[in-house]
Amino acid sequence: MLQAQLEDGRLILLAAHQREQIHNFRKRRFLCPACRKSVIIRAGKKVIPHFAHEQIHDCELDGTGESLYHMRGKLQLFYWLKKQGYAVKLEECVKESARRPDLLLHAPSGRELAIEYQCASISDEELLRRNEAYERNGIIPIWILGGNRLKRTSTYMLDLPKREQRFLMQHKQSMPLQLLYYCSNTETLCNVQHILLTGKKQTIGQFFFRPLQRLRFPQLFHTLPKKLLEINQAWHSIQARAIAKPLTFASAPIKRWVTRLYDNGLLLQDIPLYILQPVESQYQMSVPPYIWQTDLWLEQLDHIPVMESVSLNRLVYVCRKWEVNTNPFAISSNKHPVESYMQRLCQHGWFDQIDSETFVKKKGLSLF
Ligand SMILES: [Zn+2]
Repeated sequence: MLQAQLEDGRLILLAAHQREQIHNFRKRRFLCPACRKSVIIRAGKKVIPHFAHEQIHDCELDGTGESLYHMRGKLQLFYWLKKQGYAVKLEECVKESARRPDLLLHAPSGRELAIEYQCASISDEELLRRNEAYERNGIIPIWILGGNRLKRTSTYMLDLPKREQRFLMQHKQSMPLQLLYYCSNTETLCNVQHILLTGKKQTIGQFFFRPLQRLRFPQLFHTLPKKLLEINQAWHSIQARAIAKPLTFASAPIKRWVTRLYDNGLLLQDIPLYILQPVESQYQMSVPPYIWQTDLWLEQLDHIPVMESVSLNRLVYVCRKWEVNTNPFAISSNKHPVESYMQRLCQHGWFDQIDSETFVKKKGLSLF
């Protein structure tokens, strides 16, 4: 922990003091703000001056797993926010819960934000517990991942396994999906926006790197200019590759679906690529876009005569079997992926949207 209390109750941020002062502090007794047990000073040459429990025990602030990388980043973010005039607290207890986010920020709007700088892995249960505790207290959680977790693989691609997809954020409906990364070694923030999931860990996104000191906090939540063509191309090339590949490692439901396709005289490789469209809310689906979108054509769209209409409800119903139960926590949009998909088809002239519920088919190409 970066802060501890003197016996008179004063909270001391050790890293804010000079070496000599820290030396004097060694003669004083410090208490853990969470469990009130004694803590000792750690202030060698290679560490950020901090406190540690004398004995390892179960405490919210037991920082045994807290790396130098994390501690340094937490401190840098703290000073960065303070410099901008924000009321921000380090390791502050959230009222009515034992949660202590890395940073607690009181926004000028009156809202409180819990900023978690997450460098280590965290279990689903722990993540849920924290997010729920914040929500109960009306606090918005902001997850900034350690730059050590960013696995960029090309200009518009990163590897994002399922457990990293839990941190996807969309704080306003008008915002694109985003992920925030911060590297405390280079003091650089990476804002990944316009994220498109592909159903695999390969994920499309646009990377915006900025030195922390050249950013202001609200800018983290601005929509950044999108390279629409490049983003879409990258997404389509992953779908094309997925279709061309034999399904050796596919899950059982996918294999069953492909077998059914085959029983109908169709091969995976026959799927026309132009019916596949990227949708932002792919995280609501358990299978890759090429599966549920092709399935939607096979079950419904292909059979609709030209000029006939179909209701969105009906299409959503067909895709229910592919939906997942849990969505990323920090997402405000509730648009169903099928609705986004149909609107994409409208843009490409396949359908017309008549009202919020109804689509009319415009072209009569038989796909299968
Ligand atoms: Zn403690």
